[in-house]
Amino acid sequence: MKSVLITGAAGFLGSHLCDRFIHEGYRVVGMDNLITGDLKNIEHLFANEHFSFYNHDVSSFIHVPGKLDYILHFASPASPIDYLKIPIQTLKVSSLGTHNLLGLARAKNARILVASTSEVYGNPLEHPQTEEYWGNVNPVGPRGVYDEAKRFQEAMTMAYNRIHNLETRIVRIFNTYGPRMRLNDGRVLPAFIGQALRGEDLTIFGDGSQTRSFCFMDDLVEGIYRLLLSDYSLPMNIGNPDEISIKDFAEEIINLTGTSQKIVFKELPEGDPEKRRPDISKAKEILGWEPKIHRSEGLKITYDYFKQLSQEELHKNEHKNFDAYFR
Ligand code: UDP
Repeated sequence: MKSVLITGAAGFLGSHLCDRFIHEGYRVVGMDNLITGDLKNIEHLFANEHFSFYNHDVSSFIHVPGKLDYILHFASPASPIDYLKIPIQTLKVSSLGTHNLLGLARAKNARILVASTSEVYGNPLEHPQTEEYWGNVNPVGPRGVYDEAKRFQEAMTMAYNRIHNLETRIVRIFNTYGPRMRLNDGRVLPAFIGQALRGEDLTIFGDGSQTRSFCFMDDLVEGIYRLLLSDYSLPMNIGNPDEISIKDFAEEIINLTGTSQKIVFKELPEGDPEKRRPDISKAKEILGWEPKIHRSEGLKITYDYFKQLSQEELHKNEHKNFDAYFR
């Protein structure tokens, strides 16, 4: 039986990856320090004899007994409000954490895939973004703690690949959505759906002309699975190239939820990228992958998930001390 360590296992993407690898017949070791993850995302796996879990911070030395064939490093805060709240942990998990996991991969002779991000492109001057674009990142802006940690992570991973011949994979993930996102993590999709469900106005930051390209998590997981099993060790974009402005996206959420609330405009947070869309030619050519789930379908599934959350979860305010961010 092949075994895989998944860090960030209790998070949005990590938990879906745990499900996928269990489904594929792997022994899955999940690891998470639960700083942004939630055990409820993997509760259903605890009864499975092929699943085990460590409550551990990967920024500290990692010990996992037994053999490991693969490591997937998905531990990291991934929403701008989280970077503001826990900037030092954000920096550590993708630098020290990545270093520890690369060391573990060497010790176990395992192949490692690290989760990078479209944020390595910063506020991009090239559009759409190909993997060859180097980015336009402000290291000392509010997003710098995430962007630079992920850029360091890529450099470190390539160094282990080149110096130690370690088998490495780097996925650059663009905006992804789906069930198990935190309703109050501050990201635009849960923010809008949460506002609609609570009967609040939808808050657009800036004038809403900034664009994003949203990928449904099933598509993303399929792309990651294929990348892991491929021979390709340079960074690869995985995302949905279907680009939409945040204003149009708000309209889609209004139509989806049937809310009678209006849109209100707030200040654009510093360093918020103006546009983002992946060039996925490489994924198409090398992995035979492209997204299959249209936004209308993915949004319905995601809305159904948020609708069944408890009132307590719906009204939880995670941002009490960060109201300035939402001016
Ligand atoms: N955004 C918004 N209203 C919100 C939350 C976010 O208009 O309540 C905007 C945000 O300024 C950004 C886009 O939506 O331009 C996507 O934000 P998100 O935090 O989801 O991720 P990002 O792609 O910026 O990392």
